[in-house]
Amino acid sequence: MSVAVQDGSQGAISVSKAARRWRMGGRVQGVGFRPFVYRLAHFHELTGWVRNCGGEVEIHAEGSSEQLRLFGEALVSRAPPAAAARLLEVRAAPNEHHDGFRILSSAQSEVLHVHVPVDLFTCDECLAELSDPKARRYRYPFINCTQCGPRYTLIRAMPYDRRNTTLDRFTLCAECAAEYTDPLDRRFHAQPLACAACGPALSWHSPGSWIEDSTAALAAALATLRDGLIVAMRGVGGYHLLCDASNESAVAQLRARKRRPAKPLAVMLPWRGDDGLDYARTVVRLSASEAAAMRSSERPILLAARNADAPLAHSVAPGMSEFGVMLPYSPLHHLLLADFGGAGPGIFRALEKRGILVRERSRDIGAGVARITIGTEKELKQLLTVLDGEARRGGHA
Ligand SMILES: [Zn+2]
Ligand SMILES: [Zn+2]
Repeated sequence: MSVAVQDGSQGAISVSKAARRWRMGGRVQGVGFRPFVYRLAHFHELTGWVRNCGGEVEIHAEGSSEQLRLFGEALVSRAPPAAAARLLEVRAAPNEHHDGFRILSSAQSEVLHVHVPVDLFTCDECLAELSDPKARRYRYPFINCTQCGPRYTLIRAMPYDRRNTTLDRFTLCAECAAEYTDPLDRRFHAQPLACAACGPALSWHSPGSWIEDSTAALAAALATLRDGLIVAMRGVGGYHLLCDASNESAVAQLRARKRRPAKPLAVMLPWRGDDGLDYARTVVRLSASEAAAMRSSERPILLAARNADAPLAHSVAPGMSEFGVMLPYSPLHHLLLADFGGAGPGIFRALEKRGILVRERSRDIGAGVARITIGTEKELKQLLTVLDGEARRGGHA
């Protein structure tokens, strides 16, 4: 390490190492921010540590002043795309003489300024793995990484660590554990990390049938949808009712169930083509700004002008010149819609809360509706407790 100028240590003419400390706020939990800091510190040959602290991230780094300066700049300018990191404080600090850089376990201290991390839509890299037969998580409905996947939905307590999520009872298999602990892996410290060998599976529940296998559960859901029936799906963000959006009688049945005779319903459309919007363009006319909005991380329901020959049932939005459409945001949505073909199932939400992800409440799901859920019944109950409990305050609706 080269000789650096004085930085915070009184009286020294030159010191081999300076030390600095940063406090970062904003969206820094659940977005791979600590692993990013770790890699960045290694790149700049700095020692020290990073830790969560009351919803913020605290960083202590030691090294040459020039490397510390570059590191400090990159903390903000090169943060992961999902992070909205904000520099709260930077100051000189006493040298602690670390011999490496570590991610410390979260400080248990006061929980202040907590930003509950939001659920993040499936990223491009995970989407590519999901459809790659050679990938370990090929067609795994709960694929995720530090840049995508559920956060808010899984959290029982802060800070955001695996032990505080509903995933904590799934012990990582050797391969997942290797990814979780490898600083160079994009799943390094991905808290909801899972695979088919060690993570949650889909289950299927309908009168007279109970399936606990992801592939078979998905097949049962698709067959039910093709028969024109309704499926309730608990995915990221709560329950949705699904039916084939091109089938008039299926839509009529769903309207009767929801006692919603005429209000427009929103439809989730399959992701097709390079930008994911090829199918959407057969349904609605999209301007450049509407296309960008539809792809944005909030995955909003977008109201757009319908095409005259749109392949949706007329009763989806009777008498309207627009359709409410959205793109899939979880791997399970992607799998369902890709496999269904044709118009794809609509994932219906009333449009009175346009633009907001409306969570269906479990009590809205009556008898006779087939269900696709994750985990075993016991796990599901625990998940539902989380869904309705205190842990769900804050974050998006
Ligand atoms: Zn991802
Ligand atoms: Zn695994």
